[in-house]
Amino acid sequence: MSGARAKVLVLAGAAEARTLCRRLAADPVFDVVASLAGVTAAPAAMGAPTRVGGFGGAAGLAAYLREQGVDAVVDATHPFAAQISANAAAAAADAGRPLARLRRPSWTPVQGDRWRSAPSLAAALGYPPKGARVFAATGRTSLSAYGARLDLRVVARVIDCPGARAPSWIEVIAGRPSADPAAEARLLSAHRIDWVIAKNAGGVAGYGKIAAARALGIDVAMIARPAETAPDLPAFEQVDDVVAWLRAAR
Ligand code: NAP
Repeated sequence: MSGARAKVLVLAGAAEARTLCRRLAADPVFDVVASLAGVTAAPAAMGAPTRVGGFGGAAGLAAYLREQGVDAVVDATHPFAAQISANAAAAAADAGRPLARLRRPSWTPVQGDRWRSAPSLAAALGYPPKGARVFAATGRTSLSAYGARLDLRVVARVIDCPGARAPSWIEVIAGRPSADPAAEARLLSAHRIDWVIAKNAGGVAGYGKIAAARALGIDVAMIARPAETAPDLPAFEQVDDVVAWLRAAR
């Protein structure tokens, strides 16, 4: 990196990206820009200058890094956002910018959990028995996949209510996940849920439903994370460690 202030692009999407952006925005040695995909209508404020929308693939992102004089990139996207992570790796290599990844750890099962691991949503959908009542915690864009199991009663929670775009056989609840297992248990009980289908996103906010399922003896089809496309990149689980890496890279 060059210059007194290092320009850092944070590819946001995970909750930790906000913490990182706030930390960098408050630090006089960094000039931070957050990037959001623009898929959420009312995203939480990043606490830093924010751009919204795709770059136009890896080539577009590489051009952005050059044109904007970005010194370093942090991929703090959701662990299931595989395309942008692959693009970031390719673009950073192309433009010769250092790139690190901020990834919170996966959840691991504990005593009492009734998990079945699945490599994909399609595989997870094979687990619930005919007629089961399923809580879908896999996001708005996944809903059409549930059409493969029209025998299930599906209740889906999505951050932005898709309204008319929701398949008619799915009951949609608009809302964010709660970290509070008691609140999530009330929701699962109110809908008489037998199975939860979830992505192994990790983190605190999404874990409430997993702890609630354990407490209620509910089965969970847990979708494993996609493989990292660039496993050799510097990767951190804590915001502090990313900041230390950025300081060392200046
Ligand atoms: P994706 O498949 O990895 O990316 C699709 C495209 O969206 C990318 O090629 C890129 O467009 C654009 N994009 C994604 N993240 C971006 C960012 N931070 N800034 C600018 N452009 C971005 O991503 P996805 O799974 O659709 O998720 C979209 C966003 O929602 C991600 O930022 C992700 O962190 C967040 N999110 C995803 C999930 C999930 O389960 N997948 C859950 C929660 C939040 P171009 O190629 O045009 O640059």
